[in-house]
Amino acid sequence: MSVNSAATLLINGKWQEGNGNFDVLDPATLDVIGQAADGDRDDAAAALDAACAAFDGWRSAGAERRGDLLRQAAAGIRARAESLASLLTSENGKPLAESRGELLGSARMLEWSAEQGRRADGRVTPASGSGPGLVLKSPVGPALAITPWNFPASMLIRKVGLALAAGVPLIVKPAEQTPLIAAELIGIVNDAGLPPGVLQCVTTSRPAEVAGALLADERLRKVSFTGSTEVGLGLVRGTENHLRRISLELGGHSPAIVFPDADVPAAAAGVAAAKFFNAGQSCIAINRLYVHREVRDEFLELLERKVAALRLGHGSASGTTTGPLIDRAGLAKVERHVEDAVSRGATVMLGGRRWEPADPALAGAFYEPTILTGADDGMRITHEETFGPVLPVYSFDTDEEAIARANRTDYGLAAYVFSGGLARTWNAVERLNFGVIGVNEPGPVRPELPFGGMKNSGQEREGGAEGIEAYLETKAVSIRF
Ligand code: NAD
Repeated sequence: MSVNSAATLLINGKWQEGNGNFDVLDPATLDVIGQAADGDRDDAAAALDAACAAFDGWRSAGAERRGDLLRQAAAGIRARAESLASLLTSENGKPLAESRGELLGSARMLEWSAEQGRRADGRVTPASGSGPGLVLKSPVGPALAITPWNFPASMLIRKVGLALAAGVPLIVKPAEQTPLIAAELIGIVNDAGLPPGVLQCVTTSRPAEVAGALLADERLRKVSFTGSTEVGLGLVRGTENHLRRISLELGGHSPAIVFPDADVPAAAAGVAAAKFFNAGQSCIAINRLYVHREVRDEFLELLERKVAALRLGHGSASGTTTGPLIDRAGLAKVERHVEDAVSRGATVMLGGRRWEPADPALAGAFYEPTILTGADDGMRITHEETFGPVLPVYSFDTDEEAIARANRTDYGLAAYVFSGGLARTWNAVERLNFGVIGVNEPGPVRPELPFGGMKNSGQEREGGAEGIEAYLETKAVSIRF
């Protein structure tokens, strides 16, 4: 499939055009780089019919066969990593090196899922009366994946790998900003030899219409959503007439704590990476940085040097470390947060304004990597997810204080701890109410670990031994001989 064609609907094994198209933009230049099919409720209904028809065959295909196909798909991604990375960068704006890393991570996730499918076993309980009990795992049934633009490859592939490994047919509705990389990846997985209807793609500029049509049909047994808390909560409310399984990977408000016994240079490098990756548009980006007063000055000097070395630009230009925000709305939110913090007494240590590039072709929404010192708990940025390259810094005196302030949020996705002390680290890890914790580790995401949040950051997990459970039902069988 060529990205210049708008045949981005994959329904029942065939790539199709929609009744209309929508433009896809390069967020760095605002140039139109392609078009995607504007799928509608009829396309959604056709996809669900095909998924239901495919379910029995796919669940019976066997975990080993499904795993073989997923490994082949992973090899396909690795083989085309360079052209996929360039498409990802032109659609999302992130630097090429980050796109390459995301695609490599996607291939690893498919490989992990292929193995986990073969481990989706149940158990036999000791005989009670005249026979044993069995716990069986079976695929949940046709599912819908709704995916975001910020990690348009890895968030999509996590769902594809786990669903397919479990024997679940999946309909993917990608974000409207990044439909082309989604369609390419779905094409690669499909071309590994999937039967029609097992993996489908419905691109659309009308997500509520397409999702609504599917949610209204009780044959859809599962939804896996990654995106904002607001839309995620709406999906939960939309299922009130019939219950179905729902996985939510939502927003975050990650704290990082730099304790006085941290390796300060390593912590400064780690914080810069965990904050400014993907221009801060990551659900696990640091949103609040708590630094112990004893190491604050040394730490901030090193951090400032790291952040000042970041280079804004087009993601495909050599030397670029930081791309644009996805759109003007994202930029406006970043500006609101900085203005509010400054009006309440924060100081701009670095950045604090839009980036005005010398190259007029860079018409996208760029914001300078920003450090705000003197942040306090009354500021909007302390409570709302910024989703941009702004780092507010708070000072603390005791471990208890830092942990309590870090936990003071409705979110519970990720937290970061920088410390060289075992007891102090263990205490923090035990007491922080977050689903993912990096200890001296800016990138706490691996296929082997379950990823997901607590509180308003979500429910269920992706990855780890837990990930496949989200696509499995549990049956208890009691046998009497
Ligand atoms: P968003 O919720 O607007 O969009 C996410 C997806 O939902 C897109 O596919 C979109 O088309 C779809 N969508 C939008 N409205 C919908 C509706 N009414 N019904 C059904 N689907 C709908 O989120 P966004 O702004 O694109 O993404 C940023 C958010 O996603 C941030 O809050 C971020 O933290 C979160 N996120 C979370 C994770 C995670 O794993 N926890 C990962 C990436 C992003």
